[in-house]
This record gives sequence, C-alpha cells and structure tokens, in this order.
Amino acid sequence: MYDVLKVRRDFPILEREVNGRRLIYLDSAATSQKPRRVLRTLTEYYERHNANIHRGVHRLAEEATGLYEEARRKVARFIGAPDARGLVFTRGTTEGINLVAHAWARKFLREGDEVVLTVSEHHSNLVPWQLAARDTGARLRFVPIREDGTLDMEAAERIIGPRTRLVGCVHASNVLGTVNPVGRLAELAHESGALMLVDGAQSAPHLPVDVNALGCDFFAASGHKMLGPTGVGFLWARPELLEEMDPFLGGGEMIREVHLERSTWNEIPHKFEAGTMNIAQAIGLGAAVDYLNTLGMENVREHERRLGEYARRRLSEIEGLTVYGPAEGRTGVVAFNVPGVHPHDLSQLLDQEGIAIRSGHHCCQPLMRHLRVVATARASLYLYNTEEEVDALVGAISRAREFFG
Ligand code: PLP
Repeated sequence: MYDVLKVRRDFPILEREVNGRRLIYLDSAATSQKPRRVLRTLTEYYERHNANIHRGVHRLAEEATGLYEEARRKVARFIGAPDARGLVFTRGTTEGINLVAHAWARKFLREGDEVVLTVSEHHSNLVPWQLAARDTGARLRFVPIREDGTLDMEAAERIIGPRTRLVGCVHASNVLGTVNPVGRLAELAHESGALMLVDGAQSAPHLPVDVNALGCDFFAASGHKMLGPTGVGFLWARPELLEEMDPFLGGGEMIREVHLERSTWNEIPHKFEAGTMNIAQAIGLGAAVDYLNTLGMENVREHERRLGEYARRRLSEIEGLTVYGPAEGRTGVVAFNVPGVHPHDLSQLLDQEGIAIRSGHHCCQPLMRHLRVVATARASLYLYNTEEEVDALVGAISRAREFFG
C-alpha cells in the first residue's frame, strides 16, 4: 500500500504555510520538492567530502570521485542502462538535448535530411533543432496530435521515412499529461535508419523508465524535477553513439592529451563533461534515485495515474472549464482554462489560499497555438499530493469563478 501521508512527512517544505494556509504545492512539473534524504546528502557531502573530482589523489578527492561515480551508476540503473558509460551528467534536459543537437547533429546531419518532432514539444526539444537545421540545411517535420491530445500515429507513419535521420519526442507532455508511444516511434525511426531521442523531463520522475525496452538512442532528463537538486540532469545515449560524436564543450577533464594546436579526447562519458561538474548536485540526484527506488516507481506511477484522473474528473465538473489532454492513462499534469478568468489571475487568487499552480504557455508556444489558446492554468501533481489537495483546488477555482463573476 502506497502511504502518501507517510511520504509527505519526508518533505519538510510541505509543512510550510503560505498566506496563512498550509501550502498546497501543485507545480511539480516546473520543479519538484526535495525529501530530507536528498537534503541530508547535500549537507553531508559539503560537511565531510567536498573536493574536486577525478584530479586529486588525496582522501577527499577520492571520496568525492567515488560518490560522484556511484551516483552515475545509480542513475544509469534507474533508467535500465546497465552500462554507465552512456550516462553523461548535464545541467538538465535542455543541456542534454543541446548536447545531441551539437555533438551529433552538427557532425552527421546534411542538407535534405529530416528531423521529425511533434507539435507538443517543449521549447527545449524544438529550438536546438531549429538551430541545428539552420546550420546543416536539414529540414524539420512535425507529427500532429489528435483532438484528445494523443499523438497522431498514422501521421507519424507517413512522416517518418527514408530522409529521416532523427525522431525526437517528449515522453510525457508537460501540458497535456499524455504519455506518448515512444517505443513505437523508436521502431519507426529504426526501420528508416534514423535515431530516436526521448525528452524524459516529465517521464523519468513519474514512470518506470527502461531505455532498452523503449529502444531509444538518446534519453534526456532533469534532476530537479525528480526530487534532486537544481543544476543537474543527465543525457543517456548508446555508448557507441557517444564514441562517434564530437565533444560538446571543450576544456579541462574532457581531454586525453592537449597540444597547442590539437587535442585528443578522454574516454566516454568524460569526453562530454568539460570543466568542474555539479558534483554535489549529481550526488544529490543519486540520493533522489535511492528515494524513488524505495517508494517503487510502479507505486509512484499508480498513485499519480489515479490522482491525475481524479483531478481531471473533478475539474471537468466545474461548469464551462476546459481540461486539455486525454481522460485516461495520463500523468499527474492537468492543464485547464476557466472561462472568463485569465490563468495568471487565477494563479494569483489561488496563491492567496496557499495553492501553487502554474500559468502561461509552459514553454510550449506551438502547442498553445495548436490548442488555440495563449495560455493555460496547470496543476501538476506528484508523489506527495493527495485527493484532499485536489478537492481544495477545485473549491478555490469555484470561488475564483464567482469572484470574477
Ligand atoms: N522538456 C519538458 C517536457 C519539460 O517539462 C521541461 C521543463 O519544464 C524541459 C524539457 C526542460 O527542462 P530543464 O529546464 O530542466 O532543462
């Protein structure tokens, strides 16, 4: 049995009050809160082990290096990647995708090649490809979504073809809550000789992920959305791809030998980790993964699936309110609009009651255009949220509607 009340006690911030009310945090898709285990790991690292890694031979340097590399193995295991050489620490999903758009795309894309994305991508899986297309002459193509927010797979089958070199898709949408069939997209990509990149920013924190089962070639995610600290994330890639890619950033640590006019590269994944990395944060992410494993990702998924469906149902009961995305199989992200109330105003009113939601375009402007709105409100639920909190949200929205008449 998943005991959400017990889970909540691990998150000190949930005891906070905002505007005289107990905080109801419904903005975890933006960033999640952190359990004590992660906070303790960060403090302990700085109090006992802090040193730069891979360089010194003194005790602290060895301890810090050991903890950092152990975190790499934990994160790799967490996403079903037995070979940790494929796991590169980054600042987050954005940096991971940019890494591929530079180190792979600039080297391998040619004029006339196609990169296939979807209309529901976050800007971080769109803009890097626009820049890569501009520099290489490749063309971007887009898979549309259906009315219910699911991907139009028939269109995908038509669009992915012999010119496709890479298919990139958000695994779980940060607006629609849709879980996309990225495994099927990977099959289509591979049948055409293309690679598959998955934006896992909203899936790694919420679903059991196995990169081998998905059959993807690249998988990027952010630590701060999965209970870890800010400033760290990861890109997993098939090691043979990392071997053949160019470096992304140049500098210390990513080299084997440097001459004045040329250099050779360190072995993977270090070839992609230039300069001093976010050491404490990576170790903190390792602790976050330990915590998620203790809860069990199947349990987390089930809790959120039920809560997401409950939230969608309860919100739909409010007259005139539009909820975006599918009714079933969704994640805990629920975007909606209340007629006559701008999402920013709604968000401010809810804040008066201690309820934190997000409003805006959610870094998905093309998707907003597709939905024919400029903005939405968004409640995003996580493993510490409860049905009572959803009820409080629904009550506060109903009051907001009355307030705006
Ligand atoms: N992709 C999706 C689906 C997201 O929701 C986000 C963050 O909101 C990102 C990518 C970018 O993540 P980050 O800002 O941590 O790099």
